[in-house]
Amino acid sequence: MAASKQPRYVDISNPSLAVQCPRCGLQTPRFLDLCNNDAYKLWPSSYAASAAFKAWRAADPARAAASRFDMEIPQHVELVVDFDAKAHALGIHMPPPSNWPFVICAGALFLALAAIPFDSAVRITLAVIGGLIFLVGVVGWVLVEDVKMYPTESAGGGEEHS
Ligand SMILES: [Zn+2]
Repeated sequence: MAASKQPRYVDISNPSLAVQCPRCGLQTPRFLDLCNNDAYKLWPSSYAASAAFKAWRAADPARAAASRFDMEIPQHVELVVDFDAKAHALGIHMPPPSNWPFVICAGALFLALAAIPFDSAVRITLAVIGGLIFLVGVVGWVLVEDVKMYPTESAGGGEEHS
């Protein structure tokens, strides 16, 4: 980049990515040559603004993720919420994370097919198949897996939560 395009001065010690526009007084990205609100010329050119931004960004590794168009350095904060622990604290019974609902739905599909006015032998067969799959799903989910997941609750009858 040519020397004439270098900024004469940029305050790299100032961590701010936003600046108050001298004309409109609103916050605007500091390294865009024009104010976002009223197009007041903050930098002599876009090249100068870009060079100033690069100098500013190179001054601190924490600024690496910043963009000229940002008003603040993007922070990647992962918000991890343990909903199971939260539900337990509130005394809400969460169903176990289970595959059995898929089995129940498969059974419901055959039961629904049995509602179509086919020949009665076909309908009875479909209803029996669907009912069996449905029942297996319900038993597996409610009676087997849930009891395995919450042994104390089913033994004590349910309402106490520590
Ligand atoms: Zn402005």
